[in-house]
Amino acid sequence: MQEIAPGVYVNLDFRGCNVGLIETDDGNILIDTPMIPSESRRWLEYIRQITGNKPILYVINTDHHRGHVLGNQYYDAPVIAHDLAWKNMRGYGANFCQRVVDSFKREPKIQAELADLRIVRPTITFDTRMDIDHGGRTVRLIHVGGHTEATIVIWLPEEKVLFAGDTVWWDQHPYMAQANSKQWLDALRQIRKLHPQIIVPGHGPLTTVEATEPLSAYIRYVRRQVRIRIRRGYSKQETASSLVKQLVPMFTVNPDRRGKIESQIKQAINRVYNEYKKGAEAEEQDEDQEKEIAPDEVEESETEAGSTVSEAGAVEDSDDAEYRSALADVGSRLDGDVDDDEGDNDDEDDDEEDDDDLDDLDEDGIDE
Ligand SMILES: [Zn+2]
Repeated sequence: MQEIAPGVYVNLDFRGCNVGLIETDDGNILIDTPMIPSESRRWLEYIRQITGNKPILYVINTDHHRGHVLGNQYYDAPVIAHDLAWKNMRGYGANFCQRVVDSFKREPKIQAELADLRIVRPTITFDTRMDIDHGGRTVRLIHVGGHTEATIVIWLPEEKVLFAGDTVWWDQHPYMAQANSKQWLDALRQIRKLHPQIIVPGHGPLTTVEATEPLSAYIRYVRRQVRIRIRRGYSKQETASSLVKQLVPMFTVNPDRRGKIESQIKQAINRVYNEYKKGAEAEEQDEDQEKEIAPDEVEESETEAGSTVSEAGAVEDSDDAEYRSALADVGSRLDGDVDDDEGDNDDEDDDEEDDDDLDDLDEDGIDE
C-alpha cells in the first residue's frame, strides 16, 4: 500500500489487478477490487486502518474483467462502471462462476474461498463521462474503450493522478483479446492530453505518461503489419503465423512462458485482423458513402509505403528500426513475461473465434 498523492492510495500487490483508494471528507471511493476473497478482506482492513470508520461511498470498476470486479461483493457500496460493463456482466451467471472456480484448479485453497462468490453488478452506469464531486474531491470517470468496449479511466484533475485501468501496459504484453486497436490508440492519445504526473496501470508497477508511447508504437506496428498482409491476400491464420514469428523476438520472454506470449500476440493479431475485415465489409455494404479517413489512418498509410513483402513472404518494414528503437528506449520493459501465478487456463488456446465469454476468463486467467 502506498500513498501516491495526499489521501490517494494504491495497492499493487494483489492478484487480478492494482487497486486504488481515494479518501474524501465524506467517505472513500475505491477503484477495482481484488479477485481473491482473502485479499479483498485484507484490502478492507488496510482501508480501515488508514481511514477509520469512514463509509465506502462507491466502488468503481475500470472494466468488466474478473480481475477487477470479483471482489465487489466485499465492500457494501454501489458499483459504478460503464454502461457496457454492466451489459457484459449481465452474463456472469452460475456458469461463469463455476469457470472462475475451475480456473483455480491448482489452488484448492482459493477454490474453497470462492465458494461464496457472488457477482455484484454495477448499479450506476454512464456512457461518456461522469464526475463525482464529493468531500472536497473531484473524480472524473472517462470512457475510452480500446482494451475492451467498456474500459474507463479515472482522472483526478487536482492531483494529476490517472488510474488507467488496462489501457496502459508497460511491463508486459497488452491483453488484446477483446480490444479495438484503433480505439485503443485514441485512448492513449486522450491520456497524453491529460498530462498526468502519475499513471496507475491496471497491472504492474506505477508509471508515467512516457509509458504510453511504446504501447502506441506497438499497437500501430501490429495494425500496419496486419493490414499489409490483408492487402496481400493472407488469411487470418497466415497473418497470425507469419506475424507472431516476427513479433515474439521483440519481447523478453522467459522460455517457459513462450507459449503464453505467443498466444497473447496471436489473440492481438486475430483481433486486429477482424477489425480490418469488419471495416472492409462495412465499406462494401456502404459503397456510395464516401469513407471518412481518420487522421490515424493517414498517419499509418504514409508509413506503409515503405513496407515490402519479400519472396519468402516475410514482411519487411522500413519502420522496423524506428519501432525497435522506440521499444529499446524503455529497455525491454514491455516484455511478455506476464505474472501468471494462477496456473494454466484451459481456454487459452481457444482464440480462433471471438468468444467474449471465454475471453473474460482468459484475460484474467493471466491476471489481467
Ligand atoms: Zn481488463
